[in-house]
Amino acid sequence: MAARTRHVPVRTCVGCRDTTAKRELVRIVRTPEGRVEVDPTGKRPGRGAYVHRDYRCWQAALKRDRLAHALRTAISPQDRQALVAYAESLREKGEVTT
Ligand SMILES: [Zn+2]
Repeated sequence: MAARTRHVPVRTCVGCRDTTAKRELVRIVRTPEGRVEVDPTGKRPGRGAYVHRDYRCWQAALKRDRLAHALRTAISPQDRQALVAYAESLREKGEVTT
């Protein structure tokens, strides 16, 4: 039979639980040092979790500790603050730019 069309990797957003093409999600990484940070390149080593570039998804991911659960770690106050700041920057941008 014909070869399959190009495989598009998909991941689940921890905010809304929808599955979406990986490139449309923002990766958050738990580093080997135990920090939790946004990973814009998507290539850093460590356990990753994915969230849409949508403030509402970030809010859901952070508020209910879904992100910490997905990463199987506790998020320190300073890391959480950085993630909240990132979420706020998404809200200020308004429209999603790709
Ligand atoms: Zn989402």
